[in-house]
Amino acid sequence: MNIRPHIVAEYPQVVIEIRQICKPDQGNFSMKITFLGAAGEVTGSQHLIETDSIRLLLDCGLFQGRSEEARPKNERFRCTPQKLDAVILSHAHIDHCGNLPGLYKAGFRGPIYCSEATADIATIMLRDSAKIQEEDARYAQKKARQQGGTAKPLYTEDDAKKTARLFETVPFNAWTEIMNGARVRLHHAGHILGASVVELDLLDVGEWKRVVFTGDLGRRNQPILMDPETVERCDVLISESTYGDRLHEDSSNVKAELQRVICAASRSQGKVIIPAFSLGRTQMLVYLLNELRNEDALCRVPVFIDSPLAIRLTDVHREHANVMDSDVQETLKYDADIFDFPGLTYVQSQDESMALNRRPGPFVVIAAGGMCENGRVVHHLKNSVADENNTIMIIGFQAEHTLGRKIVERRQELRIHGNTLPLRAKVEIINGLSAHADAGDFEWWFGELLKKGGAGQIFLVHGESKSATALSKLVEECSDLPPIIPQFGQSFDL
Ligand SMILES: [Zn+2]
Repeated sequence: MNIRPHIVAEYPQVVIEIRQICKPDQGNFSMKITFLGAAGEVTGSQHLIETDSIRLLLDCGLFQGRSEEARPKNERFRCTPQKLDAVILSHAHIDHCGNLPGLYKAGFRGPIYCSEATADIATIMLRDSAKIQEEDARYAQKKARQQGGTAKPLYTEDDAKKTARLFETVPFNAWTEIMNGARVRLHHAGHILGASVVELDLLDVGEWKRVVFTGDLGRRNQPILMDPETVERCDVLISESTYGDRLHEDSSNVKAELQRVICAASRSQGKVIIPAFSLGRTQMLVYLLNELRNEDALCRVPVFIDSPLAIRLTDVHREHANVMDSDVQETLKYDADIFDFPGLTYVQSQDESMALNRRPGPFVVIAAGGMCENGRVVHHLKNSVADENNTIMIIGFQAEHTLGRKIVERRQELRIHGNTLPLRAKVEIINGLSAHADAGDFEWWFGELLKKGGAGQIFLVHGESKSATALSKLVEECSDLPPIIPQFGQSFDL
């Protein structure tokens, strides 16, 4: 396969110029892939695939990060939304689906193909994201007015609702013809509920070509989730590379650690605060606590899930237990609800949440957000960090400059809601619940692909330079040509 790269500048008209160079009647049109996000970074997943007759977008994620950089990237599409035939969505994390309402607002009205669980989760996530956009815009508007300007949300809740009507679900492990000359098959990615590795067959100038897109690849032997599934020989593989340069701890010790920390808090009459993302991480924790209760191995300490978003997402998890792993299927034979046990309370209202501040320990609170920067967990931390009887349990990666990172670093003092507080609470760190494949998982997944024929060309996306480069070395045997780490806006004729 002959690959000709182009750097496509940031402007849609440049994409159009290149398209004109490649008219089919000139006899040199071929399938083209353009990387419009998650290229050299881990946010804004978006890849455009074009043949002589079809234009598809793989994912339409929100660029997250500093708003001065993210906002222009989110506002301006480089793929002419009205001309897209469809979007194929790998999973419901906001960096993969979060700009679908923006695409709708810009004129896209085609189908969005994804798994059933992804459609249900994304419907909730997009409305939540729209609410945040609108709240941020209201806040920014106050400031802007003083300077004579205006501030608008990227999209509204109404855009999000209308976007959700475009979801068209496709089953796992079966080919579905989505249009003339295009069929899709989803495989479990083992990343979050509903997450898919997308296999796409495209008819291009009379020849079928197979493209595989990993979305975000998960890990083997994680609670709740099916293990990632492998794929057969493909012409093009677009793979994530987030943790291509490191090894995670495995998840087998997480249950024992939860038991140890909660029982210690019970003895000291302390509180355990667990910051957790509402999607995925919270449901995994509740499932593990439920297992401990089923084994009669958990101290009788009240547990509160304090996140309305997590409550809605847990309901979706209950509805899709059929796509969870065999352990869940076994448990469901004797325990009808794997997300509930005596002593567990889901906290809906703000008042109930605030009332926990006056409640004496021992108890456990699992609350969003996962990096302690926003959400209800912040007020629980404010009320708990100064007491040595309490425990802060960190279960996920904490980015630089976040409150969570400062807790991991065990800073002597923390700034929370404008107050300076001493950090006297114990800090426990559990690393086994990462949702992303590590170097070992990639080695296994690509090894399986190699056994089945490998890939014509591999593109590595969704990773910073160091991890993508490390993965590139790890998987080079798996493709006919050296793996490519595309830059933002780079386009390839295949
Ligand atoms: Zn993800």
